[in-house]
Amino acid sequence: MLARLLQCRGVATTVFERDAHAGERPQGGSLDLHPDTGQRAMRLAGLEEAFLAVARPEDQGDRLYDRDGQLLFDRDGAGDDRPEVDRTALRQLLLDALAPGTVRWGNRIQSIEPAESGYCIIANDLSEKFDIVVGADGAWSRVRALLSDVGPAYEGATMVELGFSTVEHPHVDALVGSGKMFAVGDNRVLIAQRNGLGHIRGYAGLRLPEAVVREWSEASVDKLRAYTQDAFASWAPSLTHMLDVGEILGVRPLCALPIGYRWSSRPGMTLLGDAAHVMSPFSGEGVNLALADAADLADALVRRTSWEAVEAYEEAMAARAAIAAAGAAEGLATTFSNAGVAAVLEHYQDRSPT
Ligand SMILES: Cc1cc2nc3c(=O)[nH]c(=O)nc-3n(C[C@H](O)[C@H](O)[C@H](O)COP(=O)(O)OP(=O)(O)OC[C@H]3O[C@@H](n4cnc5c(N)ncnc54)[C@H](O)[C@@H]3O)c2cc1C
Repeated sequence: MLARLLQCRGVATTVFERDAHAGERPQGGSLDLHPDTGQRAMRLAGLEEAFLAVARPEDQGDRLYDRDGQLLFDRDGAGDDRPEVDRTALRQLLLDALAPGTVRWGNRIQSIEPAESGYCIIANDLSEKFDIVVGADGAWSRVRALLSDVGPAYEGATMVELGFSTVEHPHVDALVGSGKMFAVGDNRVLIAQRNGLGHIRGYAGLRLPEAVVREWSEASVDKLRAYTQDAFASWAPSLTHMLDVGEILGVRPLCALPIGYRWSSRPGMTLLGDAAHVMSPFSGEGVNLALADAADLADALVRRTSWEAVEAYEEAMAARAAIAAAGAAEGLATTFSNAGVAAVLEHYQDRSPT
């Protein structure tokens, strides 16, 4: 998004991407774009129409179950303004909006060295100089490591990611309803979320010590299935069916930077998105913050007469991210708690329009 917005204003931009091509790996579950952040960036980039063409406004519903499989909350989300979009479709839409050759595929950044009035990026053993480097390289950012010693910490909870086809798994299709479902109880959660093209993405989440996460990450698919089935053994079979039939896609330990994370501003180098403020997905804001950062940083870079404009961007971005990070931490604590499903139900009811 940042590259698109800068190119629209005549600024030459290069994107280094470690993936060899756009389809190298599955991108993960569906995302919803919010009006004042994600959707605003799409509008500023002239991509609103392209976004609406791939968005799924029909999939904004929410369901909440308890661990016995009892449905406690059901909203179809009709008329909401947070349309869902598949990650692959969103990424392709942004790629299609860039000048040909902008993305250097298969270029993992190895190091970044200071150079006269800028920085040299070293990727694939070749070195190239740029005036400004923006770390949009996610949770384990190489660029952030040059600005600060602080990195993300494990939050104590892990998600095992699952995939389903609506055709092959009508029971899971029926559980999800018209968007996504959560089932919550005793420090555990089962999530299933409708994606495009007849796909459902699911997660089995639970609190796990870090050493056990390593063991699970290295386990065979069969062992991992047995571990998760075991962890949810006392739950209703209507829910644990997900663990019996889902395709196991990976183990995702949830990590976050400290709430209110900042670094000392350094001319010529800045961050956006997860590189600047990775948090657990329980605020549902990650992609929206990343797109809003891109819009604000593009403004700061184009209008700047000094680095102070970028410092102002960093300050406003950190303040916005801190609110979402506090929400994400609270959401995680509420979901993975001994208190059962009551607090989550209250949260759903509070944010539901009357
Ligand atoms: C399980 C889970 C569920 C989530 N659900 C939601 C949700 O429902 N809604 C939501 O808003 N957010 C969600 N998020 C968060 C969301 O995925 C992130 O906030 C978002 O992807 C951040 O975008 P980004 O571009 O900053 O980073 P990323 O999406 O991580 O992109 C970083 C890019 O940099 C590349 N890269 C990394 N290192 C290098 C290198 N050294 N050299 C070259 N390239 C490199 C990577 O290949 C990648 O393409 C979820 C996250 C998780 C883990």
